[in-house]
Amino acid sequence: MVDTNQILVVEDETTQRIMLVEYLARQGFRVTGVPDGAAMRRALQRGEPDLVLLDLGLPGEDGHSLARYLREQHPKVAVIMVTAAGSTVDRIIGLETGADDYIPKPFEPRELLARIRSVLRRAVPAATQPTGPRVAMGRRTLDLEHRVLLDAEGSEERLTASEFELLRLFAENPNKPLNREWLLEATSHREAEAFDRAIDLRITRLRKKIEVDPSHPDAIRTVRGVGYVFVPPGA
Ligand code: CA
Repeated sequence: MVDTNQILVVEDETTQRIMLVEYLARQGFRVTGVPDGAAMRRALQRGEPDLVLLDLGLPGEDGHSLARYLREQHPKVAVIMVTAAGSTVDRIIGLETGADDYIPKPFEPRELLARIRSVLRRAVPAATQPTGPRVAMGRRTLDLEHRVLLDAEGSEERLTASEFELLRLFAENPNKPLNREWLLEATSHREAEAFDRAIDLRITRLRKKIEVDPSHPDAIRTVRGVGYVFVPPGA
């Protein structure tokens, strides 16, 4: 992935802001840091970033209000909310006000980077996805535009949001073993609580939907000690 994406960091604590800006710049992003909502609005007038890293606790207008503003006025800009503590209430409100993800303080820089990349990947418009609109998976075909599974007769089966995101990740990474924790992380952003076995349960459900023989999975195979790999038909 080429990280020339632009990130706007909104954080009132100077040390934290400088640390974030420098860290993300070292990762190859174009980064700007601002201390409050008023400066954020001015920065947006100069041009839209791909993503805003938004501190919840700001002087003046707080992160919730700014997230709502971003959703309404700049719907293409992805938002990751930085919450003070890991309280469930903050997380849920954060997602309800339009953030794409949240990360509680304190966080590891690497975890933040993983979330930024995950959110930016989801934000890529469908038209530029290299996999095209339809991907054969097992005995069925994933329709990326309509978010459904099709069978040979063209009948559709609906997918939950997390099922679809999981299949899309597989479709975008054929023949590449994907780590369980990473899959869980990348697909659990809309759920208040992610639990460890959730990814295995989803895989089991998806295998029933796409495998010719779900008890001997061929399309989504288990990679011991790592996670799972999607193998396209005929590969
Ligand atoms: Ca703050």
